Amino acid sequence: MARPILLAVDDDVNVLEAVVQDLRRQYGATYRVMRAASAQAALDTLAQLKSRQEPVALICSDQRMPGITGVEFLERSRELYPESKRVLLTAYADTEAAIQAINSARIHYYLNKPWDPPEEKLYPVLSDLLEDWHAGYQPPFEGLRVIGHRWSLKDHKVRTFLSSNHVPYRWMDIAGSDDALKLMNDLQLDATRLPVVLFPDGSALVDPEPAELATRVGLRTQAAQDFYDIVVVGAGPAGLAAAVYGASEGLRTLVVEPQAPGGQAGSSSKIENYLGFPSGVTGADLGRRAHIQATRFGAEFLTQRATGLRIDGQYRFIQLADGREVSSHVVLLALGVHYRKLTIPGAERLTGRGIYYGAALVEAVSCKDEDVFVVGGANSAGQAALHFARYARKVTMLVRGAGLAATMSKYLIDEIARTSNIELQAFTQVVEAFGEERLEALQLKGPDGERRVPASSLFVFIGAAPGTEWLPASLMRDEYGFLLAGPDLRSDGKQPDGWRESREPFLLESSVPGVFVAGDVRHGSIKRVASAVGEGSIAVQFAHQYLAGF
Ligand SMILES: Cc1cc2nc3c(=O)[nH]c(=O)nc-3n(C[C@H](O)[C@H](O)[C@H](O)COP(=O)(O)OP(=O)(O)OC[C@H]3O[C@@H](n4cnc5c(N)ncnc54)[C@H](O)[C@@H]3O)c2cc1C
Repeated sequence: MARPILLAVDDDVNVLEAVVQDLRRQYGATYRVMRAASAQAALDTLAQLKSRQEPVALICSDQRMPGITGVEFLERSRELYPESKRVLLTAYADTEAAIQAINSARIHYYLNKPWDPPEEKLYPVLSDLLEDWHAGYQPPFEGLRVIGHRWSLKDHKVRTFLSSNHVPYRWMDIAGSDDALKLMNDLQLDATRLPVVLFPDGSALVDPEPAELATRVGLRTQAAQDFYDIVVVGAGPAGLAAAVYGASEGLRTLVVEPQAPGGQAGSSSKIENYLGFPSGVTGADLGRRAHIQATRFGAEFLTQRATGLRIDGQYRFIQLADGREVSSHVVLLALGVHYRKLTIPGAERLTGRGIYYGAALVEAVSCKDEDVFVVGGANSAGQAALHFARYARKVTMLVRGAGLAATMSKYLIDEIARTSNIELQAFTQVVEAFGEERLEALQLKGPDGERRVPASSLFVFIGAAPGTEWLPASLMRDEYGFLLAGPDLRSDGKQPDGWRESREPFLLESSVPGVFVAGDVRHGSIKRVASAVGEGSIAVQFAHQYLAGF
């Protein structure tokens, strides 16, 4: 906690200096003593301190000042610092006014000037007041605060960005918190422009872009070098494994990833089948550990989205969302997959306002004691259902088929069966979502026909698609957009179109030499953490072989 402040206010500079000296001598080790030569200057100072969330323990003001009197000033100071102790310094002649002010302005004490010796006339009173202040003082939260609407997509994105990047924050819902509204007023921020991210120094970002937020929270968005041996796009298990192996084997390695390292695994509340973690590991933890490991070996991470790939001779350029480019000899595309969207009426409008894709772990706590719906019958849906069951009153899993046996691992099916507040509804689909500002109801189609059920949260896991549309057409892909690599490039026994090398493509090499593919984004990949890690590590070996050709 920052040292609490004692503020002395007097328009007579000699008296002000004397007060400040006496306060410093006795309290300087524990408190910061500040001064103001007028009531208005003191109010300005208090407003600034408030915006920086600095604690003010005591305000000591002279009564006779031009413009605003001490009593008036102390009364107004209560709007900013109601908990501070207020002391009025008066001349003997003002004693009557001071006594009245104890009631009207809630002044805690008045002191007659002069107060010599301070050991007798000043310190006992102030020490008593300060002890009292300390007893009732609750230090403010010193991290980031996000003020927004629970049912806003922008708000959801900001919170997801911060939590997925392991940036601690406190979320304040403007609809349910008087403190949030008051804070917005104190900082003179427009409560209709949300979300707002407040920093401990009192500054704020209103409805920030991811890159702006990334820079402010200390994430790197610009490459440190002009050129790298390998640029890895995506920091899921495949990209992270490549970063660890690449950097540890001496390759200049850059990883480009707009989210926190961890990829899809990061949204997994518990991975129980990854080698070496007998009691499971959260995806976020696995991502954090791998990130530290890769960074320790010298890999560099940029919080950026790749938006283009340009080939120029032996150089490969990855274009970034902010318009910059990074160059390298080798590119590894470890893009993973993203969730398929529901195409029912209402789904697009209510995305982020009650309908979420992926586990959206940041929403779990908001769902406390509510009823939650999960669509999907694969492992990811099962993990999410179990996770939400810890917070929600009830979790309803909606599956199109007869049950989970064909699509989910047995250990998850068993755990779901043991969890009393999860209900499975087979042969059931969502056909429409209703709500104005937020999700309010779902139309379900089941074996007994259609019915409308009230709902505030729906988490969707209906398969995944690769996000490869930004890549040039020279990269061959299958009908779903998954990238072809290695032997898959020549299913007809011929070299890929445009392939000019005298050698065959390496395993995991795409139809463009020096551009490799690993993990879920690769056609035919096994959609598992371990396989992605394996492919990421193997890709580095082929990158070495490719680089040996220069
Ligand atoms: C909820 C859930 C639970 C799961 N549970 C398990 C489990 O228990 N066990 C298991 O083995 N597997 C599990 N899986 C599957 C596993 O997480 C994936 O197979 C694995 O994460 C694939 O790794 P990847 O690196 O290929 O891709 P991803 O993990 O998808 O990572 C790809 C990364 O690339 C980034 N990216 C995409 N496009 C760009 C771009 N243009 N620029 C920059 N970066 C980009 C993405 O942001 C992402 O971080 C689960 C998946 C989910 C969703």
